[in-house]
Amino acid sequence: MSDTSSACPPAGTVLGDLTMAQLRATVCWAAGSRELAPVCERWLRSAGDGVREGARRVRPGDLAALPQMTREQAMEAARHRLRGRPGHYLVSSGTTGVRAVRALTGRDAFTPGSLGDWRPLRPGDVLLNCLPAGGAYLHTERLADLCGVHTVTAPTDLTALARIAGELREIGVNAVAGLPHTLAVLAEDLLAHGNPLPLRTVLWTGEHLSPGCRAALRELNPRVELWGTYSASETGAVAAAFPGCPPGVLHLWPGQVLELSARGCLLTRAAAPGAARPLLRTALDDRLAAARCTCSRVWPAVRVLGRAGHTVRLRGAELPVDGLRLAAADSAEVTGAQLLAVPADPARPHGPLSRLGLRVQPRPGGAAGPGGAEARAAARVLARHPRLRAVAARHPDAFFAEAAPLALLSYGKVRPVVVVAGAAG
Ligand SMILES: [Zn+2]
Repeated sequence: MSDTSSACPPAGTVLGDLTMAQLRATVCWAAGSRELAPVCERWLRSAGDGVREGARRVRPGDLAALPQMTREQAMEAARHRLRGRPGHYLVSSGTTGVRAVRALTGRDAFTPGSLGDWRPLRPGDVLLNCLPAGGAYLHTERLADLCGVHTVTAPTDLTALARIAGELREIGVNAVAGLPHTLAVLAEDLLAHGNPLPLRTVLWTGEHLSPGCRAALRELNPRVELWGTYSASETGAVAAAFPGCPPGVLHLWPGQVLELSARGCLLTRAAAPGAARPLLRTALDDRLAAARCTCSRVWPAVRVLGRAGHTVRLRGAELPVDGLRLAAADSAEVTGAQLLAVPADPARPHGPLSRLGLRVQPRPGGAAGPGGAEARAAARVLARHPRLRAVAARHPDAFFAEAAPLALLSYGKVRPVVVVAGAAG
């Protein structure tokens, strides 16, 4: 992986494919927001002959004249268009831990036919759903319904699962869905109890599937199929990971256009049957970059670089939180990584830092070696992030690393940054 602190997509890159007919339908949907209605209606009047232009592919200029839809406007448009139809309001804590009602989606959100060959489930499978309550949980239950699959809702206390692994095997559980860190802990727990489930397939979402998470799942079954989605609470699933593609590479679902620039990523999604949620130039919270994939799928490939604008300031250097975490976790010997922030001024816990720590969670029975997993993780981070390397060279005490269990948010995601008191190290 390259230095993600400096990676940035070339301005004006547009990935994906939409027809003018699909964009027109999306603009009509967006006009359900009162604020967006005037500009949407102007665009519809001026955007050529709808009948003749319908099959033409959308060009960047067709999008540039349209407004960006905010989360509130997307919800207002959905409320307007879904009135009288069954739907779900989605409450999520995102990556910040702040719970909010973030979206409204119809219950007939997608059909398996719209997902190409992304088919993790087969009729007769039994799926253990370990996802926290929210959009991904509902999406997974809906997918299972459509595929003829029984589901088991996991208990809130996942440590109880290893104790009922025998019963889960008895009822035929052969698939599991969850956040990557949850899945890794579950796999380690099952192995520790000598009671693995015969898992054929794993569905992951919500976080990066680190090499350590992959290794833990492959210990349960070396041929396990790893299927993933990249999604946000505001947008639902945007891209998908397939078992045969390189780690970290995802394919954009069809019916979407992604505008990549240094300032951020805008997503437009078709309002066609099968679309999960029509969106008009909605800003993603994450930075994405175009990627290349080794498979033959025609859907564009992307990488998720991390949350846009989520940085910490250490002795004058601005550092990307997720870039550092990705580098630290890029080894099968750790399950994941988080940052420890020691603020320069204890009264400003989110202000500039006097010290920055790296915490990695080593995998049980991981390969031993000189310096330990935390020293090797620190070396990876320093090698890939020159700005941090420069700070650490000037102030050797400013950067430290430790090996310990990761602190989680209440619903199971890894907390990206833990603020600690001044004496840590
Ligand atoms: Zn691929």
